[in-house]
Amino acid sequence: MDNETSQTTSSPLENTGGQSFNELPLSPKILTTLQQLEYLTMTPIQAASLPVTLAGHDLIAQAKTGSGKTAAFALALLTNLNPRRFAVQAMVLCPTRELADQVTQELRRLARFADNIKILTLCGGSTMRPQMSSLAHGAHIVVGTPGRIMDHLQRNTLNLEALNTLVFDEADRMLDMGFYDDIAFVVKHCPIERQTLLFSATYPKGIAGLARQFLRNPREVKLLEQHEEHKIRQRFYEIEDASRLQTVVLLLKHYRPISTLAFCNTKQQCRDLLEVLQTQGINALTLNGDLEQRERDQVLIQFANRSCLVLVATDVAARGLDITQLEAVINVDVTADPEIYIHRIGRTGRADENGWALSLCSLSEMPRVVEITKMLGSEPEWHNVATLQSKNNTPLASPMVTLQILGGRKEKIRPGDVLGALTSGAGFTREQIGKITVTDQSTYVAVARDISREAMRKLSVGKVKGKSVKARVL
Ligand code: ADP
Ligand code: MG
Repeated sequence: MDNETSQTTSSPLENTGGQSFNELPLSPKILTTLQQLEYLTMTPIQAASLPVTLAGHDLIAQAKTGSGKTAAFALALLTNLNPRRFAVQAMVLCPTRELADQVTQELRRLARFADNIKILTLCGGSTMRPQMSSLAHGAHIVVGTPGRIMDHLQRNTLNLEALNTLVFDEADRMLDMGFYDDIAFVVKHCPIERQTLLFSATYPKGIAGLARQFLRNPREVKLLEQHEEHKIRQRFYEIEDASRLQTVVLLLKHYRPISTLAFCNTKQQCRDLLEVLQTQGINALTLNGDLEQRERDQVLIQFANRSCLVLVATDVAARGLDITQLEAVINVDVTADPEIYIHRIGRTGRADENGWALSLCSLSEMPRVVEITKMLGSEPEWHNVATLQSKNNTPLASPMVTLQILGGRKEKIRPGDVLGALTSGAGFTREQIGKITVTDQSTYVAVARDISREAMRKLSVGKVKGKSVKARVL
């Protein structure tokens, strides 16, 4: 980074968000779309970065997950776009397919003002051929993972000559996942004259190197995270290493949160914890790089629809996922990086909800807590493991159970069809049915635990969209 030309907005007080989008040089059509979406005021990262990006500068922006970074770059790249020119003018690189899908969705919402903007997602895990033919038909924006984009460049199925905006989204995670070389390959195929924007939730050392290589005189916007203290109640427990995983069980039985994200420092620790939880009959799942895409999707669906009490993950596996309604975050291990601690606990206590941030700490991890304390500027609240007792002896079970119906978008199934089959068809009430997620091949419906067997039976003998379906409990 060239320090003379960079500006740092490190105090959130200077740009607190809350201003209207109307003050920005955005087209009237975009402003109308924002109003329709009820984006009435800018989030802090949008307020800090949009004036910079709309003026054409390169940018490095850091802000926590859920702060509205997508719109921050989307509005810039849409402003640079000429819908009448049928060529790829903007590209967003993302670490995973899920994140690419999330970005594509948000871009589609924001691009509604001009109905002919074609946005294409290019990720691994899907076959090449349909992507190639979609590219041949022309796209304005591509969103994808570095590996798959590189693939297309090598096969000459993607042409970037008309590119004017390049975005690295979740740059920290792309580095974690070892995408540096792929990114370098992709950038070599982009025009030198372009605007490059880098967004990241944290700021590890590698980011500066990435920026030095691929950005030109970037401005820098950093919003230090400030959680409203009362919303996140942080408690630390001193433990022996040998009892660490068992203490997680005690925490869950004591606090009884409906959804918990449990962070471990290593994949092995994740596997061990999962085994302990499952042995205790606690609905827990884990996210890791070894899962196939379909399995990952199923884990996330079950966690989001409340049929999984605990999601066990490393920081890498959990980053960027838009998981709301978390009641607790458990730090199974203390992280060496205080910024990561703050990032982890920021997952809970969102919106108007209170959240628990519970950390287990062995004697050897105490120095790490000292670092965290320095960063927080407040004394940690220590509690004794001996005070943890289950408030009642009913087993810990998720309120919902997920049923998987074989058949999805390809069979033209919509959420309303499944809801209809279970309510007017099978006689359940709307309240007994939870979230319904339709994917290409399958439909997932959450139902209240106490009706799950009955719901399963009625689905199997009844009809969805006039057809019999196969269903199973996940
Ligand atoms: P990040 O990339 O920082 O994790 P996202 O871009 O995914 O965050 O945004 C988080 C959520 O906030 C999304 O559901 C998005 O639609 C919403 N959002 C973004 N900007 C605004 C805004 N200005 N007003 C209201 N909601 C917004
Ligand atoms: Mg994002």
